[in-house]
Amino acid sequence: MSDFDTVLASTRTTLERIAADFSPAVFASSLAAEDMVLTDLILRTKLPITIFTLETGRLHKETLSMLDRIREQYGYNIAQHKPDPAAVEAYVAAHGLNAFYDSVEMRKECCRIRKVDPLNRALAGNAAWITGQRRAQSTTRVELAVQEDDPAHGMQKFNPLADWSEEDIWNYIRSNGVPYNPLHDKGYPSIGCEPCTRAIQPGEDIRAGRWWWEQPESKECGLHVVDGKLVRIKSVQA
Ligand code: SF4
Repeated sequence: MSDFDTVLASTRTTLERIAADFSPAVFASSLAAEDMVLTDLILRTKLPITIFTLETGRLHKETLSMLDRIREQYGYNIAQHKPDPAAVEAYVAAHGLNAFYDSVEMRKECCRIRKVDPLNRALAGNAAWITGQRRAQSTTRVELAVQEDDPAHGMQKFNPLADWSEEDIWNYIRSNGVPYNPLHDKGYPSIGCEPCTRAIQPGEDIRAGRWWWEQPESKECGLHVVDGKLVRIKSVQA
């Protein structure tokens, strides 16, 4: 068994355990490459895990097109959770449509309205949630565990791809014909909202294009940090 086969087998086992022991479980997909790997693994084996995305109202058209591609390939409709229109309207009226460029605080407030609050609504009533985060993605994720306690949401949080390298992700996508966001072929290794994501240059960090005007330490949207830190419980192994 190659190292990648071992990692893949462990991820499959983790997903099966989540479906069996942490029902109901949901997968929060950003529709990016990592999340397409998990989508493929979940839908191919018809695991009873609901997949949703946060439709912030500021996504690229290429990202939104993934909803159709998933429907065509897997016959599955990804649930869309959207921000409260009144909260968006109040933010724009008070600060402007693109006030997130003005300060970290304004950016986090926009992320709260468009991402964090909809995420909280999407997670309510579930026993576990899943993300496509990887340890190698950024300085804010170096301690990422496969399984974490998430006291803020009162459930377990799983990062089944924590051990995967970027090469593993693309090997899986290419060998299994998994659809992926065409922006990945245009210099976007990490994709968020359109106004907050740019293409990167060769040699740049893979998350350098996310909130590129901020320091690396502040580059999280608030979806994955509990009281400013990650809580490690244990890893789920095959
Ligand atoms: S990524 Fe940018 S546009 Fe999207 S919610 Fe955060 S600040 Fe707002």
